[in-house]
Amino acid sequence: MKIIDGKAIAASIRAELKEKIEKLALKPGLAVVIVGNDPASQIYVRNKIKACAEVGINSYSYELPADCSQKQLEDVLDELAKAENVHGILLQLPLPSGFDAESAMRKIPREKDVDGFSAENLGKLVLHEEKTVACTPLGVMQIFKREGIELEGKNAVVLGRSDTVGKPMALLLLNANATVTVCHSKTKNIKEICKNADIIVSAIGRAKFVTEDMVKDGAVVIDVGINRDGNGKLCGDVDFEKVKEKASYITPVPGGVGPMTIAMLMYNTYVAALKE
Ligand code: NAP
Repeated sequence: MKIIDGKAIAASIRAELKEKIEKLALKPGLAVVIVGNDPASQIYVRNKIKACAEVGINSYSYELPADCSQKQLEDVLDELAKAENVHGILLQLPLPSGFDAESAMRKIPREKDVDGFSAENLGKLVLHEEKTVACTPLGVMQIFKREGIELEGKNAVVLGRSDTVGKPMALLLLNANATVTVCHSKTKNIKEICKNADIIVSAIGRAKFVTEDMVKDGAVVIDVGINRDGNGKLCGDVDFEKVKEKASYITPVPGGVGPMTIAMLMYNTYVAALKE
């Protein structure tokens, strides 16, 4: 069994990007827009800005008060859409209640949508003509690639069907010729479905949901979930200590998929800058 070191893989991706970015005539620019003062969102934004500094991306942060209007937010996004020094725009979600996130997202042009959340970028993924792909599932694909994990012909089970993680993850696996089953809160017999999987990617947000009796010997288990256990300790969707005894590869939480997400945001911003 191998515990996949997402931190180390993400660090090599950032180092590779830094080298490539140094050679560019124009530095890539990422604008991060945050509305309100949700503490978790603020931490995510800080980590993204730190990663930008490390790889040589200019970051511009826009902090809007929770009581700003939808129009004020959309005006900022309109300006950023036009700004030449900004190649990527990230609107930190979730927005405080009362905001129309979908309408705000539509202000971000496809080429600057470094989160890959726009209908156009998702549509391209469906058509297997990938443009910008959502950072977390893209990070999982990098883990497979860098660990030499074959996907073709494998039975892959994705737990969760969100537009930002589960769905793009399932499409990427399908495009890589895996046979994909997607489970969600209405799925019956999840245990039986998982037992048949060569690869499980869990993105449901339920602490220790994936137990050892759901995992086939030698399966690859990728844990996207970020949860707190009964003692308030950070944990994933997978009962790591027990499942690791059966898996051939497994990602821990923290230190697995999380760092990959930010590394892929840097990658998407770099690619957006190349397309000037
Ligand atoms: P989400 O939008 O809440 O979606 C959760 C999905 O899980 C939904 O499709 C839901 O089904 C399904 N689900 C919930 N409970 C279930 C159950 N008991 N059995 C089967 N399916 C169930 O969440 P998300 O944004 O995709 O995120 C999922 C998890 O990944 C969260 O813990 C989040 O914090 C984490 N995450 C981590 C990263 C990272 O960088 N590591 C990035 C993004 C998200 P329905 O569709 O039927 O409701």
